[in-house]
Amino acid sequence: MQLLPGLFQIGGSLSGLTANQVAGPFDDCNVYALKIKEHIVLIDCGNGETFGQIEQNMLSWGLDPKAISTCLLTHAHYDHANAGSILKKKGITLIAHSQCADAVKTGDERCCGFLYHRKFQPFEVDKSILDGQQLNLHGLSIEGIHLPGHTQGCTAYMITWEGKRVLFSGDVIGTLGYGHFGWDGSIDFDKQTYINSLRKMARLDFDVMLPGHGLCSFCRPLDRVETSLNEAMIQWR
Ligand SMILES: [Zn+2]
Repeated sequence: MQLLPGLFQIGGSLSGLTANQVAGPFDDCNVYALKIKEHIVLIDCGNGETFGQIEQNMLSWGLDPKAISTCLLTHAHYDHANAGSILKKKGITLIAHSQCADAVKTGDERCCGFLYHRKFQPFEVDKSILDGQQLNLHGLSIEGIHLPGHTQGCTAYMITWEGKRVLFSGDVIGTLGYGHFGWDGSIDFDKQTYINSLRKMARLDFDVMLPGHGLCSFCRPLDRVETSLNEAMIQWR
């Protein structure tokens, strides 16, 4: 579905855009597509079992799956990144923070295949980035913002699109439609690191938040961040 001109959500089990039989409606992350000239850039790519549905969804909105040039990963969890090995075979460029890149290369417990009773398919990203790094993809400037805690490699991506500051936030905020945090069972989850990332996120300036699961925020997205920060400090200190 189109969220802004040229910006689409093309996957996400909580939104009813993708579904599979692994473990119900929370299995697949939100997958976003940016149409930049004749190219398409994805943010996350889902669990792999739904990639055919994602391609069908793209066709429904007039997007050619063959135009996908690049995929930015928010983190290494199975539901966000397992399709990376499929994209790799298609010659699509994969970009991630260095700690996410290390996790998907090994496919170890940091990728949480065990949570889905699946084996994560390891792959090498083409470019690993660090906090604050600016990318230029087909003329669009994209900033990678490292927000570790849910996983050590968690990274959000900031763009300016149609005059709005848009943040692809991954699982740092309210992922499954309840609560205010990403899942806290990851082997590399860390509470204090997570609190510091919420503080950092609350100081960012953005108009639209597109998270890794569940609801997008087009109105006062920082309210959700501040609520999460407040709850984290009450629960986790
Ligand atoms: Zn996650």
